[in-house]
Amino acid sequence: GAVSSAYSTALAARRRSYGPNTSLSYEQPLMIVRGHGTYLYDDQGVQYLDCVNNVSHVGHGNAEVAASASAQLHTLNTNSRYLHPDLPRYTELLLTTLTATSNNSMSSGNSGNSAGGCSNISDGCDSGGNCIRAGYSGSGTRSSSSNATFPGIQPQSQPQSQRLQQQQKQPPSSSPTISQPSLEVLYLVCSGSEANDLALRIIAAARPGATHIAVMGGAYHGHTSALIQISPYKFWGQGGTGRQPHVHVVPCPDPYRGDNLDGRAAARAALAAAARAGGRLGGFLCESVLSCGGQVVLPTGYLKELYDELRGAGVLLVADEVQCGFGRCGEAFWGFQTQGVAPDIVTMGKPIGNGYPLAALATTRELAAAFSAPGMEYFNTYGGSTAAVAAGLAVLRVIQRDGLQHHAQRVGEYLLSGLRRLRATHEVLGDVRGLGLFLGIEVVRDKASKRHAPATARWLKERMKARRVLLSTDGPYDNVLKIKPPLVFGIREAEVLLGQLSEVLERELTTDVLQQLSQREDEVWGSVYGPRYLQYRENERMLYSGLPPARL
Ligand code: PMP
Repeated sequence: GAVSSAYSTALAARRRSYGPNTSLSYEQPLMIVRGHGTYLYDDQGVQYLDCVNNVSHVGHGNAEVAASASAQLHTLNTNSRYLHPDLPRYTELLLTTLTATSNNSMSSGNSGNSAGGCSNISDGCDSGGNCIRAGYSGSGTRSSSSNATFPGIQPQSQPQSQRLQQQQKQPPSSSPTISQPSLEVLYLVCSGSEANDLALRIIAAARPGATHIAVMGGAYHGHTSALIQISPYKFWGQGGTGRQPHVHVVPCPDPYRGDNLDGRAAARAALAAAARAGGRLGGFLCESVLSCGGQVVLPTGYLKELYDELRGAGVLLVADEVQCGFGRCGEAFWGFQTQGVAPDIVTMGKPIGNGYPLAALATTRELAAAFSAPGMEYFNTYGGSTAAVAAGLAVLRVIQRDGLQHHAQRVGEYLLSGLRRLRATHEVLGDVRGLGLFLGIEVVRDKASKRHAPATARWLKERMKARRVLLSTDGPYDNVLKIKPPLVFGIREAEVLLGQLSEVLERELTTDVLQQLSQREDEVWGSVYGPRYLQYRENERMLYSGLPPARL
């Protein structure tokens, strides 16, 4: 479409003077100047439905968060070296969510609505309910009996995909011999990368000599030098320089294709790979629901098996909740709670401050003591600053008061069932999956082959953008459409998304277009994704066979 001179000026200046390897979304980038709720507005006032931004968790331009941070900025914004009542108030509140019963930690207590009726987050949601409860048992399984205590959560809260998986495979019983860590200490930092970098430092302090780290295939954990080294998304991605010998990549489960579903085998393989490389695993970092890895919901029991096996070998377990935390998964406040596991370290970011730079790491008293033992101070200039804490407090308040966790579950289930209906009639929609408002659509060339179709996924994203609906693509083969909107996304918005996607598939994805896309798929698979796919398969072969890598 026509663009304004302000647009052209901004684009030219950006290209001239800003870091060239930062990206702009879409073939023709958008100039967004305002946001409200789950909508974004360009400089011409055109409204877009944002289905992607999981940072603006309680909504773009949220007045409460803005007022809270702004009032604090007018009063005082200093570092954490002075006492301030809000810092411990915030950290204790946040820690309470981590120890709360797995599927209930922060709902509003509203029990009245079922999926289908509520398109406004405040519809039927009572205010002021205080549902933060202590007592996560760490038993390792979902406890439906605990639902009785918390009227906000229906026992039938598991998405169907999870229930189906559970029917196929019961989670193993927990090991009584290994005590469950209690997350009692918090560090406040400024970004997800800082939180994960700190996790690596804690592992190094608490497991001296165990210098090897295991991560999940397709994972991204941050942008520092140390984190690029443990992010296959980067080191096996465009411009990446490959795997370092101290890093071991656990093949990511692919429930759609039935690959790599055994957590125990994966853990054993990673431990053995570290030993073969002359080292020992000190830590395992994993998102509880995978984001950059392609919006993958791990099979029920998978992470529990993996954790049990690794914990038995002394490996520290880090749950990266930067994307999936803070109620987004619907059935639980934290992603790891949907897997019934108890991590030693939890890292948080993105939604925590609704865009105000804030992130956090929670760990046990024992690990914090090990990290502190050498006597080196941990100081972070902006981490735990007074204004950041004010933003964080406001975010928790809004999530709780407006029942956003429960809302995410309700709207997410509605959206997932609508997507399943679309999948039934469209060959290129291979799989739809997700938890709460953390969903993915895996785009394939056809249902029989399940071959990844990144060019088609990108085309769908661009056609949806033309219809003012913003999606993005991700996964190691970039063929997964991601849906992770601000949590104020409602049933009305879900209908817009489903309606527009249906029209693109029905009216625009013609035989001619499919033919062109097929040619494009061959090109990008040959040049970019095919070699990457072989790299992952080679890693898998090496890890499970114990044979040395042929081409890593
Ligand atoms: N972990 C995960 C899972 C992430 O998605 C990201 C950011 N995309 C990070 C860590 C790093 O967070 P940040 O960009 O705030 O440093």
